[in-house]
Amino acid sequence: MEVILAESAGFCFGVKRAVDTVYEKIEKGGIIYTYGPIIHNKEVVNDFLNKGVKEVNSLEELDDLPKGCVIVRSHGVAKDIYEGIEKRGFTIIDTTCPFVKRIQKLVNVQSKAGKTIVIIGNDGHPEVEGIKGWCENKAYVVGSKSDILELKNVIKDDVYVVSQTTFNINKFKDFVEVLKNICYDKNVSVANTICNATNERQNEAAQLAEKADVMIVIGDSQSSNSRKLYEISKTHCERTYFIQTLKELHLDLPANANLVGITAGASTPKNIIEEVQKYVRTYF
Ligand code: SF4
Repeated sequence: MEVILAESAGFCFGVKRAVDTVYEKIEKGGIIYTYGPIIHNKEVVNDFLNKGVKEVNSLEELDDLPKGCVIVRSHGVAKDIYEGIEKRGFTIIDTTCPFVKRIQKLVNVQSKAGKTIVIIGNDGHPEVEGIKGWCENKAYVVGSKSDILELKNVIKDDVYVVSQTTFNINKFKDFVEVLKNICYDKNVSVANTICNATNERQNEAAQLAEKADVMIVIGDSQSSNSRKLYEISKTHCERTYFIQTLKELHLDLPANANLVGITAGASTPKNIIEEVQKYVRTYF
């Protein structure tokens, strides 16, 4: 039986950069905080915790803590969070992914120019919350066609559209069309800010799942890009397993299985992927 691991499985450039930065900082020593979990992966976050890195989730929490450095994760944070951290006398190590930084800048510039900002993405997701926090006025987050229709009588100015980096490209295109239709009397500018790493990972998962008898998607249940990989794989391969670590894998292979495909979300560490891959190759 063949086992194929997707080439794009595991840490993307932005996540790797953020995780490496934390480990480098641990090596150097000092008091380290992360603003929110650095990545959506319990294994990695627990490892940081064991090495003395504390996670904070609000500016107020910092008020009672000894001074140190605060690492901003790859999802980025709102402008006022940077200001609040500095005001409290903490240093910032910024690992916001450059692709996310670009969106924050676009939103800041275009909102200052008087455009109404529409973010296509999942409201409440940390990256989206961060992007919203760079808008000089109210930004509208839309995650469904009905969300867009609700904007019909709300939008008064020209519109500038961006996307959460991990949003599905086809849905994004659809949503833009709906938005253009309801804003037919306005100027609608669109920046496709979906990250290529996400596209490539999703396309590869779909292609692999199409030919696989069984698909294994490894990722944290909190990771939206991992969940999307699962959904995509499941549409092409009925026997798709979504696991966080090898411990959760209870593989039930059909007798005629010829190919097992493995992929993993952007926040899944290499060692977990290797463990799963080795297990499947050894025991099946
Ligand atoms: S998915 Fe893309 S945008 Fe998000 S952290 Fe990774 S490289 Fe950056």
